[in-house]
Order: sequence, then C-alpha cells, then structure tokens
Amino acid sequence: MSKTSQYKYLLKGIPASPGIAIGKPHQLRGSNILPPEKNLSEKEIQMEVERFRNAVSLAKRELKELREEAAQKMGEDGAKIFEVHQMLLDDQLLIDETINQIRSEKKNADLIFYHRMKHYQEALEGMENDYFRSRSFDIKDVRQRIIKNMQGEDQKHLNLLQDPRVIVSRELTPSDTVNLERSKILAFVTELGGRTSHAAIMASSLEIPLVVGIDNISAFVKDTYIWVVDGISGEIVIDPSPQLLEHYRKLQKEFYEYEQNLSTIRELPCQTLDGKDIELSANLEFPGDIQSVSAHGARGIGLYRTEYLYLARTQLPSEEEQYQEYTRIAEAIFPNPVIIRAVDLGGDKQSDCIPIPKEANPFLGWRGIRICLDEQILFKAQLRAILRASTRGNVKLIFPLISSVTELDKCINLVNDVKNELKQEGIAFNEKLEIGAMIEVPGTALITDIIASKVDFLSIGTNDLIQFSLAVDRGNERIAELYQPFHPAVLRLIRHIVREGHRKHVWVGMCGEMASDPLAILVLVGLGLDELSVSPVFLPEIKQIIRSVHYGECVQIAEQVMKMSSCDEIKNHMMQIMKHKFGYPRFHQ
Ligand code: PEP
Ligand code: MG
Repeated sequence: MSKTSQYKYLLKGIPASPGIAIGKPHQLRGSNILPPEKNLSEKEIQMEVERFRNAVSLAKRELKELREEAAQKMGEDGAKIFEVHQMLLDDQLLIDETINQIRSEKKNADLIFYHRMKHYQEALEGMENDYFRSRSFDIKDVRQRIIKNMQGEDQKHLNLLQDPRVIVSRELTPSDTVNLERSKILAFVTELGGRTSHAAIMASSLEIPLVVGIDNISAFVKDTYIWVVDGISGEIVIDPSPQLLEHYRKLQKEFYEYEQNLSTIRELPCQTLDGKDIELSANLEFPGDIQSVSAHGARGIGLYRTEYLYLARTQLPSEEEQYQEYTRIAEAIFPNPVIIRAVDLGGDKQSDCIPIPKEANPFLGWRGIRICLDEQILFKAQLRAILRASTRGNVKLIFPLISSVTELDKCINLVNDVKNELKQEGIAFNEKLEIGAMIEVPGTALITDIIASKVDFLSIGTNDLIQFSLAVDRGNERIAELYQPFHPAVLRLIRHIVREGHRKHVWVGMCGEMASDPLAILVLVGLGLDELSVSPVFLPEIKQIIRSVHYGECVQIAEQVMKMSSCDEIKNHMMQIMKHKFGYPRFHQ
C-alpha cells in the first residue's frame, strides 16, 4: 500500500520494542532533564507559585518520613543525609528567591528551580574540598525531589487520563519506566536512546512498543492528532488518512494473531529437529514479569536484573525486602532455575540510593560489580538475601561487568564470608549455590579460560560486549547504525568465549539482546551456546526457529558466516536464509 500523502507527518526512528500502537500522544516531562520552558500569563503566575510551594511542603513531609524510617533501620547516622536535605529546604532565602524569579521572569517553577539548583550544584562540584564536592549530590537530590513533586501532577495527570496514550518524551530513564502506570501507556516515542538502552529493554519486557531517535519529537505532539507507532519498522505516522489507519489496524491485528499463534508452542521443548536441547530462559526486569515468563513458555530465568529494587527510591532496599522478593520469584519458577544478578547500577541506571558522581564516560565508569565491591554494605545485604532465598536449590548467582580475575576472586571471597556469617547465625542456605560470571568486557572474553576455571557457568552480555568491542555507545541513537551484533569481531569473541568455556567444562549462555534477535539465532546455536535468555515477548518466536532446524545446519551456517568479513555480508546472508526458511521478516516486507 502506498502511504504517500496519506498522513500529515511520517517520522522515521529506530524500532526498540516491537508492536503497533494507535492513539493520541501525551508529552511526558522527566525529572532528570531540563524541564521545558513555559511562559506564564498573569493569571497563571500565582498558581505556579502555589504549585512550587506545594511541592516544597510535600518534599518536607517526605523527608521527615524518610528520616524517621532511616533512623529506625540504620540508626541516627543513616538518618543524617535526610537532615541535610531538610535543611536545604528550610533555607527561606532559596524559596523566596525562586518565587521572586517565577514572578519576575513569568516562567514555570520547575525550570527556574532547576537552573537555581544546577548553579549551586556546579559551584560545589568545582570545589577542591571533598566534603563540599560531595554535597553537590544533596543539591541534585533535592532538586530532583522538588521537580518530581511538581511534575507529580503530570504523573497524576497521566493516571487520570481517560484513555491510554502514546507517551512522548525527550528521553526515558529506567527510573521513569519503573514509575509509570502500564494501563495508561500505548507506546513510547523518544528523542534519545538506543535499541539496547535499559529503558528499551524494560519497555520490551512490559510489551510496550517503543521507537527512539526522533529529533524534536515534542513539536509534533497535539491532542487532536492520532499517532500510529510502529515498533517493528520504527515509523511514526501522524494524523493518517482513514485508509492508512485501516491498514495499520489490520497490521496490528495480524501482529496480535501472529503472537497468539506462537503461544501454542509454549509447552513444547526447545529442541532442534535432530534433538539438540537449547535451554531457553527469560530475562526478568520487573516483579510483574514473572507471569509473562511462564505465559511465554520459558523454563527458567536466565537473567534476573535486580536493579528495579533500587530505582525510583532514595533508600536502599533492606536485606529482608530483597529476601522476600527473591524468594517469591524463586518459588514462582521452581523447580526451574533463576539466575539472580548482583545489582548492576551505573551507566544509564542511576539510582538515588547510591548517588554516582558525574562521570565523563558513565558506561566505562563506576558501574556494576565495581559499585558492589566498593559499597560492601549494599553488596553484603544483597548476597545474604540471595543466599537465604537459595534453600530450595534453584537459585544461582551471577556477577555483572567482571573485568578481571581479581574482581571475581573478591566476589567469591565475599560470598564465602557471607556463607560463614549465615552458618554462625544458624540461617539456612544452599551450600552448593552455583556462581556465574557475565562476559561483557572484551578483555574478559580473552581470558575466558581463567574466568571459567573459577565459576560454574558463564553468560554473555552482548549489550555491553558489543558497545565495548566496537566502541559504540549502546544508548546513542546517532551512531545506532554502528552498533552491529553481526560484526565479525563480535562473532569471533562469542565463538572464543563458548570454546574456552566448554574447554573448562562450564556451560555458556547469552543474556544480552542479541539472543532475542531472530536473525541471529541460527548462528548462535551453531556457535554452540548452551542457553539463550531472552525478553519474554521474543521467546515463542525464538523457540519456533530452533524447533524448525537441524543442529548440523546451524553449525554449517555458523561456519559460513565466520568466513565472511563484513556485517552487511553476514546480515544479508542471514536475511536470505531466514527469508527462505521462515518468510522473515513477517511484517513490513
Ligand atoms: C548485557 O550487557 O548484555 C546485559 C545483559 O546486561 P545489561 O543489559 O543489563 O547491561
Ligand atoms: Mg551489561
């Protein structure tokens, strides 16, 4: 069907979570980014001042509660941080000056407060003295709390929306995603982000279509327009003609039916035609995903990202809270295994529980296991909770972003310390808890043999492995074309990891998004991966592919592509095979 002149605008972005949504847009304002500028009429000024005052009062009440809770759980020392925040908000000069500025500049309060606090924050960040420098986090925290409270009205507004909407924003952070009310969201469209950024992974786990990388998207938001968000092709059609709308409704129905048909293979084994078993597991991002894991036919959980327990809150989760949560998941999936990952904060996962200093290269910075090893109170609480939840025997533990054997040794030693502590306290745990390492740093991939000799299993994190081996930021829409899972260097690294892992008699899985890419499956099976852990929504399709081929055929395909020299050559080759065998891609031929 020709679509020319059948719409007001056609925008092309990067598809980051599949599905087709049709509905009106709603602009979301994030708390972590510069609030959009709004000019106020005389009548609106007083309302804006009130909005600001209410946000401050709410923040004071929140801080009082947090202070009391922290004092109870962590003693007076733990409560001090909230006192500092309370003191900042008791500064009448700061409040008065902000209100004066709202009145004189006739601009929205969140923007004015953002600039004021940013100014103080930068002044402190530039100081020599460590104490003052570290206070800049408090300023940022208070700034975000007030902006969140002011925009809380946006969130409330979102929950009060009559009909679900296409949520449009400049960027989507994992914290934003954790906070949103699912029933009010048809799709996400953002300016920033990449296919494997964490917000994209979360959207696909919530089965919400997402398109990223569209410049100046807010300019297109109008309540009278209908939007079509196509998370398969990456197209956004704004104000389509009735015929075009009909075409998309049909496509939406076909996509739905296709998914429904696939669900019939839910109970069938994930096995090639000649009987080779591939362990097909699911990645878990949110507590609610556990239903989706079984509904899509996963046996176990190959990657449980525990970060959601740390996002969108200012206090660390307690050992008890974590224990309850891990036990609930382990019980729900029993007798199948669940691989719980030590918390992997940093990069694009910023948590207010652990303020991370501003870094030039957050993905190369204080992240993952580095934070765990530096923040041992946090790490030990999590290890205790995981060990306590391991008594039924189906829990395994994995460490993210291991970049040296020294780090891995430290992790294993800590697990042993925690085991000894629990033993002394008479608390039960699985003495034989299996431990794995994620291979997501190219340097670590090259020493797979050494790493493998110290663990029970390996899992390849291709999201990071690709960005590090090709020097391409996984969250940068501008260079998304360079982020190439089929780059020969990536395939060689994967082959090396699998071979070396097997040589050391450990099984090797993959939990990065490459394992969810139908185009890559035959190559991955042919390279000898024992397990694939994928976002639940992709699981039936991946299973169907594996069930339709012989293992020997996959080995042959892998051998062929390993001789090729460019991503395009490999990708085209795989496209041809998939087209021939499965009519791939099924949508948007
Ligand atoms: C990966 O890097 O592939 C991975 C699974 O970890 P994350 O996406 O959470 O960084
Ligand atoms: Mg990773």
